Amino acid sequence: MRVGIPRGLFYHYYYPLWKTFFQDLGAEVVTSASTNRRTVERGIESAVDEVCFPIKVYYGHVRELCHQELNYIFIPRLVSVEPKSYICPNFMGLPDMINSALPELPPVIDITVDVSKNDRLLKRDIIRVGQIFTDNKNHIKQAYQHGQDELHKCRNICRDGYNISEAIRIWDGEQIVLPSTYNINIGVLGHGYSLYDQTISMNLIDRLRKMGCRVQVVETLDRDAIEVKAAEIPKRVFWTLGRKSVGSALYMEGQSEIDGIIYLACFGCGPDSMIGEIIERKIKNKAFMMINIDEHTGEAGMVTRLEAFCDMLRRRAGKVEDYISAHG
Ligand code: SF4
Repeated sequence: MRVGIPRGLFYHYYYPLWKTFFQDLGAEVVTSASTNRRTVERGIESAVDEVCFPIKVYYGHVRELCHQELNYIFIPRLVSVEPKSYICPNFMGLPDMINSALPELPPVIDITVDVSKNDRLLKRDIIRVGQIFTDNKNHIKQAYQHGQDELHKCRNICRDGYNISEAIRIWDGEQIVLPSTYNINIGVLGHGYSLYDQTISMNLIDRLRKMGCRVQVVETLDRDAIEVKAAEIPKRVFWTLGRKSVGSALYMEGQSEIDGIIYLACFGCGPDSMIGEIIERKIKNKAFMMINIDEHTGEAGMVTRLEAFCDMLRRRAGKVEDYISAHG
């Protein structure tokens, strides 16, 4: 059986887990191509106007897979991936939104991932999904465990300075060599599915590297240290990705080797409107830049801002210019 996994949203965090799971159950896993202009156009045609850019792009990936003679398409319903924390509501309604917008959709494997209290329901859903392929419950449990092991291996690759999407490509057999020379160090934050998607982010990370920057992202930092820093905010941020961004920004601010921080936000994103603001107000000792993107953002404007930001950091590193906080 052929199972399609769209190359958007959760793909950038969990692809090794689900690929391994379905393959172990005997399925052939098919993914959509990397995001390109056609993906974006298809997504914009199908999605409702109100949703954010990454969700529109996800529609484009699903539409591409609709023409690939699949038996199933995998669209999980992510509610919570860790205790007492949640994922954006758009992820919760994703299978329903896609189902109602795309009549040509193959049958959807819709699994609810909600471990906010415990993983009892998730385990039950894993068995339900596995029974599409086999009646052997032990085999299903082993496949899921194998998937988690592979995900763990993939995440460990990030320790060498790769972001999670690069780690997935390396895990999938690709070779990626990071530039070894740089003269400034920049922390780059944002949701992985926008930041690491080269079309959505307009290749932000590679552009910075070409400009002579070493790029640090959430996955290259110490996870415990991020949580400790995130806990400094008086009210706990209950969005998983938002909390990691806040914790990472505060952690980066305390690291002398980091020269500046960039936050990539998506226009129309509810969580970003708050998380970006919190980070902007909290970061007082580092240069900070927030970039808002949507489907209308022009590449030239982005490049100009990145170049200006890097030039400023270099001038500061050379002590030509002092830091004057925008917040006094
Ligand atoms: S968190 Fe923001 S960018 Fe991500 S899916 Fe939700 S609205 Fe879109």
